[in-house]
Amino acid sequence: MVVGAGIVGLAHAVEAVGRGLSVLVVERDDRAVGASVRNFGHGCFTAQDGTALTYAFAARERWIQLAKEADFWLRESGTVVVARADDERQVLEDFAHGRDGHVRLLDRDQVLDRVPGDPDEVVGGAFLSQDIRVDPREAVPAIARWYAEQRGAHLAWSTTVQGFEAGSGVTLVRTSRGDVVATKVILAVGHDVDRFFPDTATAAGIQRCTLQMLRVDAPEGAGGGPREIDPAIFTGTSLLRYDGFRHSPATAAVRERLRAQHPALIDAAVNLMVTQRPDGTLTLGDTHAYATTPGPFHPEALDALLLTEAARLLGTGPLTVRERWQGVYASAPAPFLDVTPMPGVRAVSVTSGIGMTTALGLAPRVLDSFL
Ligand SMILES: Cc1cc2nc3c(=O)[nH]c(=O)nc-3n(C[C@H](O)[C@H](O)[C@H](O)COP(=O)(O)OP(=O)(O)OC[C@H]3O[C@@H](n4cnc5c(N)ncnc54)[C@H](O)[C@@H]3O)c2cc1C
Repeated sequence: MVVGAGIVGLAHAVEAVGRGLSVLVVERDDRAVGASVRNFGHGCFTAQDGTALTYAFAARERWIQLAKEADFWLRESGTVVVARADDERQVLEDFAHGRDGHVRLLDRDQVLDRVPGDPDEVVGGAFLSQDIRVDPREAVPAIARWYAEQRGAHLAWSTTVQGFEAGSGVTLVRTSRGDVVATKVILAVGHDVDRFFPDTATAAGIQRCTLQMLRVDAPEGAGGGPREIDPAIFTGTSLLRYDGFRHSPATAAVRERLRAQHPALIDAAVNLMVTQRPDGTLTLGDTHAYATTPGPFHPEALDALLLTEAARLLGTGPLTVRERWQGVYASAPAPFLDVTPMPGVRAVSVTSGIGMTTALGLAPRVLDSFL
């Protein structure tokens, strides 16, 4: 059994039926509405490091294959990192040395050929050719639909798992629609691990990270419609977020300069980034706030900060907002939680905000050792 139909649960379910197993996915909502549909849809493979990098490139192949099989939109678009200061360009030069062939340094004109920007601000950049984009609002439901059509696949929406009891060689799963006996359980409930195993969550240091996000109109293109922006766009703040960049000594200079010049960005742990949706609008974010129980209030000042900074990045006037939302994901000092809190139950969570990038590569490794 898999609990949770976000990308982590679905990754395990797809992998398990692919191995010929009979699988029941149980999801409390009538469709996925968690982190997996609230994100940028960015497969940020290149900027990972260590185990996450291994999972990311395994996931890349699976995303491309699944897009064909489950018939959803996927762009092998890459990412453009826009450098707007020499220290940012230095980080990219250092990074390019360690990522043979997957990172191409760009000069100002090459950046501005690919993405909109202010020529007076851009000093250079890099193209991360392996990254992909999907529309998470389409891709995750498409994966769930495709999964449900496979031999051995079962899916129970609107069914809440309430707890587990160990049996002899099996697990009794209490749900809001009755008990189910499972031989193995993957608990893939994102940040809600503490609802089941609070001590496990505390020991792993899991908190909820809340992010403010916006959907805005793209700047106008040459033909009058929204400008097409194929790659995802990263900025200097992204260099502080992804582990792949951390090996560069210049990241410290980026942080210090941003703290001095744009303290609000550092205070709100902003990762200013943009991806375009199939309808041409832009997903724009994000801020990061950490708590076990986040407050319910959504500060307008943070949205205003994102809108101001995005307009500056794109070299455009005020942006028109189409939607606002908050996303939540599990965050912890280690990038992945993969523990066995009781016999027969494996709790798996991506605790570093990169579940779209890594889950499809993580799941096969978990199942190799669990089954
Ligand atoms: C705003 C935002 C932007 C992000 N951008 C990116 C990005 O561009 N690239 C990237 O790689 N990652 C990104 N991430 C991170 C990524 O979205 C997450 O790591 C990933 O979606 C987590 O997947 P999940 O399946 O664990 O969680 P979720 O998608 O939250 O799924 C967990 C599911 O468990 C279900 N559940 C919980 N409790 C129960 C229960 N008791 N019974 C039954 N079901 C239950 C929930 O209803 C939910 O559907 C972003 C995250 C956010 C929030």
